[in-house]
Amino acid sequence: MKDQVCWVTGASAGIGRAVVQRFAEAGARVLAMARREDRLLELAEQFPEQVRVLVCDVTDEEKLRRSLSELQSPFHEPTILVNNAGAAFGLEMAQASRWSDWQRMIDLNVTSLVCLTHYVLPGMVERNRGHILNLGSVAGTYPYRGGQVYGASKAFVEQFSLGLRCDLLGKQVRVTNIEPGAVQSEFATVRFEGDSEKAAKVYEGFQPLTPADIAETVFWCAALPAHVNINRLEVMPVMQASAGFVWHRDDP
Ligand code: NAP
Repeated sequence: MKDQVCWVTGASAGIGRAVVQRFAEAGARVLAMARREDRLLELAEQFPEQVRVLVCDVTDEEKLRRSLSELQSPFHEPTILVNNAGAAFGLEMAQASRWSDWQRMIDLNVTSLVCLTHYVLPGMVERNRGHILNLGSVAGTYPYRGGQVYGASKAFVEQFSLGLRCDLLGKQVRVTNIEPGAVQSEFATVRFEGDSEKAAKVYEGFQPLTPADIAETVFWCAALPAHVNINRLEVMPVMQASAGFVWHRDDP
């Protein structure tokens, strides 16, 4: 890990924060990216040798590209990109959803992930070394009520990851889609616009995954020998499963 330069988006909370800590502990250099500067600075204080921060909104493409182009060596050439920034906004049925929520999810979960990948790929291919790790979700495979656009955005991430693998065949650039189930983080609080009571109910009565569980998974994929590619990795808490089909029946 000591010669790895790892860019992590969504590094100020939850899974991203835990990923930064896991890679920094292992000796990698990490560029921690998110909007909340105070949170990122805490990470930089914790790992002054390893962690640099980039305060950015990953959906602001122009500004992001500019900031990335100004990075100093060795942080300017990532060997690992963890495309983690993502969110669900709302849990309404499709017909009652806000258009702005749908737009924001597509901008963040799809467009910004594709944009950053597009930015780093030519360099990784030229250096013949790299690993893109995307944070998908079980929601990309199994639909649930109220999760239509979020799930579709994660299905995009899965298919995009598999497509990259096709295009990168013959290059030493790996691509992995990590697909977690329920992880206790700020995810549900963000989904319910800061309503932490409602968010806490999501995890009530069962043991969810922790951000550290997923960070360990991400790290494991990256630390495997360079000839090994984990294409997709689905991880759920033991107390979560997909419930299959449902039917609406007319009253007899
Ligand atoms: P989280 O605790 O809410 O963290 C999300 C991170 O994304 C924060 O650091 C946030 O930082 C950052 N972020 C959000 N919007 C951003 C923007 N416009 N620009 C830059 N950074 C932005 O959520 P999490 O659970 O760790 O989720 C991480 C990833 O895992 C997401 O892609 C999510 O879809 C996926 N996932 C989560 C779960 C789960 O149950 N939690 C399950 C499956 C998949 P700032 O607010 O400081 O910008």
